[in-house]
Amino acid sequence: MPATGARYDAVVVGAGHNGLVCACYLAARGLKVCVLERRAVAGGAAVTEEFHPGFRNSTASYTVSLLHPKVIRDLRLAEHGLRIVERPFANFLPLPDGAYLKVGGGIEATQREVARFSRRDAERLPEYYRRLDVVADVLRELLLETPPNAGGGIAELLPAWKSARALRRLPLAAQRDVLDLFTVSAAEWLDRWFESEPIKACFGFDSVVGNFASPYAPGTAYVLLHHVFGEVNGKKGAWGHAIGGMGAITGAMRREAEARGVEIRTGAAVERVVVSAGRASGVALADGTQIAAQHVVSNAHPRWLLAALADVEGEWREAFGNYRSESATFRMNVALAELPDFSSLPGREAEDHHRSGIIMAPSLAFMDRAWMSANARGWSEEPIVEMLIPSTVDDSLAPPGKHVASLFCQHFRYALPDGRHWDRERERAADAVVEQVTRFAPNFKASVLGRRILSPLDLEREFGLVGGDIFHGKLSLNQLFSARPALGFASYRMPVKGLYLCGSGAHPGGGVTGVPGHNAAREILRDL
Ligand SMILES: Cc1cc2nc3c(=O)[nH]c(=O)nc-3n(C[C@H](O)[C@H](O)[C@H](O)COP(=O)(O)OP(=O)(O)OC[C@H]3O[C@@H](n4cnc5c(N)ncnc54)[C@H](O)[C@@H]3O)c2cc1C
Repeated sequence: MPATGARYDAVVVGAGHNGLVCACYLAARGLKVCVLERRAVAGGAAVTEEFHPGFRNSTASYTVSLLHPKVIRDLRLAEHGLRIVERPFANFLPLPDGAYLKVGGGIEATQREVARFSRRDAERLPEYYRRLDVVADVLRELLLETPPNAGGGIAELLPAWKSARALRRLPLAAQRDVLDLFTVSAAEWLDRWFESEPIKACFGFDSVVGNFASPYAPGTAYVLLHHVFGEVNGKKGAWGHAIGGMGAITGAMRREAEARGVEIRTGAAVERVVVSAGRASGVALADGTQIAAQHVVSNAHPRWLLAALADVEGEWREAFGNYRSESATFRMNVALAELPDFSSLPGREAEDHHRSGIIMAPSLAFMDRAWMSANARGWSEEPIVEMLIPSTVDDSLAPPGKHVASLFCQHFRYALPDGRHWDRERERAADAVVEQVTRFAPNFKASVLGRRILSPLDLEREFGLVGGDIFHGKLSLNQLFSARPALGFASYRMPVKGLYLCGSGAHPGGGVTGVPGHNAAREILRDL
């Protein structure tokens, strides 16, 4: 068996953004680090690629908010050229009856919009945002903490105390909100606040993003909350476009990693973690090469460890085997001859609504129907679609006068019923998505020049997202905080000594945050 002879302080499996972040922090402390990536390009689910001649776009993740400001600062991402522009307003919700709702762009503007449907809802908005933000602040405070680890003994008292302190400081009413947001359905939470459907649909959409559930299902309010803890350029809760696509983020991270001496190898698929005397001592690649290292850090999905540690028995195998991983997400990029001309807000010249997140899911009941229909038939003929058109703010993505759009679609099962297979169904599902957009913008179908389709199965094959789960595992209460990825494994330390998890399967979960990578590096350095 060939061996490189090189010995690293740490080898990172996967060059997703969290792998790159972790490598940067380790290298900053003088560790010799090597990152091994299976794909030909570094960046994981945050990459920009050409998908049609002359048209580039973010391939998977497509919009930025959750990327932690500390990571942006520490990794000097702005100095490496990263520029994020805020959406002019958060969301545009075209409605089937020719009406529409715009949300964001300042509280007064949103109140004016919402008042067209309900004056009462408009009046309640400031208090809604305030109360949600109080809870989001608790999440923000806990992001960079290592959760208390069940079974971790006395050493866990400090993290447990820190978490409890964050909650205890809140007034009782806010503590109730925390409890509710972690347990109730998004619909129940929103029904308490609002009476008009469009605003509930707009906010409730976040609860089904990457979450195969009806917005009426208990626990969905947390997923809504998970999407609001971010910020853009210091503005809390805002979402933006990374100029150059999401690959600009990981490109900047890669440059910083290389400046810190990190070695990054692409086309290097790791097959297993080598364990000697009960401790991780390196990795073996698919081509048989072994690479020795003091620490092994996995940026891959938690369930990858079941195969990579095939010889390591223990009760952990059951817990990791039961880890739920299916977000039921379908992703498409389309090259467009012209901008969508919405029936409810006509125009083919770029306007602010084209630069926002365009949600085609007009009510919570609509989302519930899409879920029920996907449950029965694999996916809905009337799917939930969000569209972003980044070329309206970034002319590096498409030829002059042309555009690219990201279509992010929910409730497409990983496993189709009745023996159907995604390799035969991909195009038909993509057609249904195009039809859905065309219902709101009649010129859309004819404007499509090319498309790249990623079914849930494609997301797994392409990015190693087990079950096609965009977050490396469901964001459900039994898979969050001290229970992510499983109770007893919340400290980024995995079942054998010297092995760590630094990807989205660790606290605080999915999204382009850089936080699992940041926190895992801190724990590795502590163990040194
Ligand atoms: C379709 C889609 C849309 C999304 N939209 C958004 C969004 O708009 N905004 C947002 O914030 N988040 C979004 N997300 C979620 C976000 O992209 C992910 O949570 C995040 O990018 C995961 O980063 P990571 O570094 O933890 O893992 P990944 O990006 O998954 O990286 C893991 C890396 O490990 C590599 N790897 C796996 N196994 C091996 C192996 N055996 N050997 C070597 N390498 C291996 C993989 O190839 C991959 O490069 C989206 C995700 C998807 C899929």
